[in-house]
Amino acid sequence: MLLRGGCHCGQVRYEVHGEPFDSTVCHCADCRRVAAAPVVAWFSVPRTAFRFVSGEPKRYASSEPVLRTFCPECGTSLTYQHRDFPDEIDVATCSLDAPARVPPMHHTWTSDSLPWVVVADGLPRYPRDATDG
Ligand SMILES: [Zn+2]
Ligand SMILES: [Zn+2]
Repeated sequence: MLLRGGCHCGQVRYEVHGEPFDSTVCHCADCRRVAAAPVVAWFSVPRTAFRFVSGEPKRYASSEPVLRTFCPECGTSLTYQHRDFPDEIDVATCSLDAPARVPPMHHTWTSDSLPWVVVADGLPRYPRDATDG
């Protein structure tokens, strides 16, 4: 599978060569604030499957073990990496050119969810990350 994506202004572009092994809609407070959106969809691939092909994203440590990237020009959230999982990278699903190709498998961090976010898609819901289930 080849997936292409990038930020809204087009300055930062990336490619993913490989199959996502996980995908989620994250309800956590950090994703919410970073994206200024009620929830953020992510998919996970091996770090080696992902590369930026144009532009230079800005890096931001949203918490001590977490490094996120975003476009320095338009601010689109692009990736998430956790220090404990150096071989993995999460990519913001809605930064894909074709986000419908990578549907979510579940919802995570629903313990942080806003009261007016109502999910009725039948997917599994986890209060924290999916390994808690
Ligand atoms: Zn941009
Ligand atoms: Zn999150």
